[in-house]
Amino acid sequence: MAKKDNRAGKAGKALKVTAENKCGLCVGAKCCQYITLHIDTPRSMADFDTLLWQVSHRHIQFYKDCDGWFMLVVDSPCEHLTGSGQCGIYAARPVICRSYSNDECEFDSDAEEGFELFFPDHASLDDYCRKRFKKWDKRFKKLLGKAGG
Ligand code: SF4
Ligand code: SF4
Repeated sequence: MAKKDNRAGKAGKALKVTAENKCGLCVGAKCCQYITLHIDTPRSMADFDTLLWQVSHRHIQFYKDCDGWFMLVVDSPCEHLTGSGQCGIYAARPVICRSYSNDECEFDSDAEEGFELFFPDHASLDDYCRKRFKKWDKRFKKLLGKAGG
């Protein structure tokens, strides 16, 4: 995650991208614009119903990759990111930022390309649940009892 040096600016296009200059060329410091939270693997209709509620909120998405299920909070830039794309607390940045490798990061391709499943909104998750659970539309009665409506 974010960089010590300034963007390479207009000269950037002519430069060969290397691990050393990549972060300086990364407009918007993409890896400083979101957080991820590992979540328990959702299995039941109740689990997915809760995810549906969460994904209905702005900036919340879900994905699954080879490491499991995650909540993704997007468009939520770190408050330490300066207007020029530098880390304002570079010397004291957290371990997760220090250990983040730019070998293959969002500069190279969108993170979604590595996801097994990706749910950016209510519609995409609801569609998945409909295919996964035959009785998805009847879940309210099951989850809430006969009075559930
Ligand atoms: S997305 Fe990659 S290139 Fe951009 S700031 Fe983060 S680690 Fe550096
Ligand atoms: S602390 Fe610095 S490196 Fe870490 S997310 Fe914030 S701006 Fe990026």
